[in-house]
Amino acid sequence: MKPPRKLHIKSYGCQMNVYDAQRMVDTLAGEGFVETANVEDADLVILNTCHIREKASEKVYSELGRLRVVKDEAARRGRLMNVAVAGCVAQAEGQEIIRRAPAVDIVVGPQSYHHLPELLARAKSDGRALETEFPVRDKFEFLPPPRPEAIRARGISSFVTVQEGCDKFCTFCVVPYTRGAEVSRPAVKVVDDVQRLADHGVREITLIGQNVNAYHGEGPDGTAWSLGTLLRRLAEIPGIARLRYSTSHPRDVDTTLIEAHRDLATLMPFVHLPVQSGSDRILSAMNRKHTADDYRRAIDRFRAARQDIAFSSDFIVGFPGESEEDFRATLALVTQIGYAGAYSFKYSPRPGTPAADIREIVSAAEMDERLVRLQELIDSQQSAFNKAMIGKTVDVLFERAARNPGQIVGRTAYLQPAHVLASADIIGQVLPVRIDSLERYSLLGELASLAQSATSQKPASPITVSSAPRMGA
Ligand code: SAM
Ligand code: SF4
Repeated sequence: MKPPRKLHIKSYGCQMNVYDAQRMVDTLAGEGFVETANVEDADLVILNTCHIREKASEKVYSELGRLRVVKDEAARRGRLMNVAVAGCVAQAEGQEIIRRAPAVDIVVGPQSYHHLPELLARAKSDGRALETEFPVRDKFEFLPPPRPEAIRARGISSFVTVQEGCDKFCTFCVVPYTRGAEVSRPAVKVVDDVQRLADHGVREITLIGQNVNAYHGEGPDGTAWSLGTLLRRLAEIPGIARLRYSTSHPRDVDTTLIEAHRDLATLMPFVHLPVQSGSDRILSAMNRKHTADDYRRAIDRFRAARQDIAFSSDFIVGFPGESEEDFRATLALVTQIGYAGAYSFKYSPRPGTPAADIREIVSAAEMDERLVRLQELIDSQQSAFNKAMIGKTVDVLFERAARNPGQIVGRTAYLQPAHVLASADIIGQVLPVRIDSLERYSLLGELASLAQSATSQKPASPITVSSAPRMGA
C-alpha cells in the first residue's frame, strides 16, 4: 500500500476560508492525502489567501518567498513538494502569482476547489496549472461531504456555507470580484449537511456567507427560502444546541430573521451586523445602500424581538473624503448602539474597486489617530459588556480542554470564552455557569449545579441573562 501523501494548508482571512480549507482537505483525502502541521514534511502546501486589504495579500508573497526555500531544500533531499495558492488572491492575481512566484505549481480560485485533483495531475504533466473561472454551477455540488472522522476531529462547533459571493458592490470591497455573484445553496443541501454534522456530534452550527442574510436558496417546496425560514428548519434538527450566522448586511434584515430571533431559543442572541460608518455621506460614497438611521432601526427591531440580544460590527476609518465630522458621526453611532465588540480597519485601497480612484485621501496620520480613538471606544464597551457578566449565571457550550490543567473551556451565547474546573465529560454540553471573574477577555466561573445541569442539556436551553447589558446612551 502506498504511504499517504501529506498536505499542509494555511488559511488567511475570513470564516469562509476556514470552511473552504476543510473542504479542500476533504477533497484531497480522496486522493490519499492526510494533513500535516509541519510544512517541511508536506508533499503539497496550500496557501488559502485573503485579498480584502493590502496587508493580507502582501503576506502571501512573503510566505511564498519562504516556501521557495523549503521547496528547494525538499528537492535537494530528492522529494517533490507542490505549492498551490488558493483563495481570493489566487482569483484576483493569478497571472501575477505565476509570474512573480516560481515556487507555485497551482493557482486555484475559490470556485474551483473541486478541481484540485485534476489540477495536481495537470501540474505534474504540464509543470503548472491555473484555474480561476467562475463556473455556472455551485462548487458545493461537487465537493465531497466531510468524512465522519474529520467531523469528530474538528470539534463540536462547525461552519456551514449557505451562500457565496456578493451583488452589493460596496465601493471599497473586492469580494464581488473575487467571489463572484451571489449564489445561495438549496435549503435541502444545507439541511443535509447540518443533519450529518449533528449525527457525528456537532452541537453548534454557524451558517456563513459574505451576505448571509441575503440567503434565498430554493426550499423543498420550490419557493425561495429566506435565512429566517432556513434557521427555523435547522432548529428542528435534534442535537443542534446553538445556531449562529455571519456576516449579515443591514439592508437584508427581514421580518423572518427578526421573528426567528423572537421564536428560536437555539438561535443565539449575538448578531454581527457591520455598518462601516456612522456618516450618511460616507455610507453613500461607500454604496452601502443604507443610512445610519436605517441601521439604528434594524438594531431596534432585533432588540424588540429579543431583549438579551447583543451586537458586533465592522468599521472602516479613513475612507476617502472622510472628514472629522464624518468620523464623529461614527463615534456617536457606536456610543448610541453600545457593542459587545467590533472590528475596525483602516481603509485600504483595493485595485479595481471604485473607491481606489477617489482622490481625496485621508492622511496616514489621521487614519491612525482615528483608528485609535474608535478602538478605545469599542474596547471600553467590550470590557463593560464582559464585566457585566460577573455574578450572573449564563449558559456555556463546552468545547475542549483548556491549556490550564483541569479546566474546560466553552463559549457563552456572546462567544465569550468561559473556563470552569470540570471533567472532560462536559464537552459538548450546554451548562449553566456562575461567572465569578474576568481575566482579559475570558470569563472564569463554576458550574451552577449538577441539578440545574441535567435540565439545561436540552438543546433549546434559553440564555439565563434577562437582557444584554448595553453601553452608551
Ligand atoms: N459582507 C460584509 C459586509 O457587508 O459588511 C463584510 C465582508 S468583508 C470580507 C469584512 C470586512 O472587511 C468589511 O466589513 C469591512 O469592514 C472590511 N473591509 C472590506 N474591504 C476593505 C477595505 N478595502 N479596506 C478596509 N477594510 C475593508
Ligand atoms: Fe463587500 Fe459590501 Fe458585499 Fe460586504 S456587502 S461583501 S462589504 S461588497
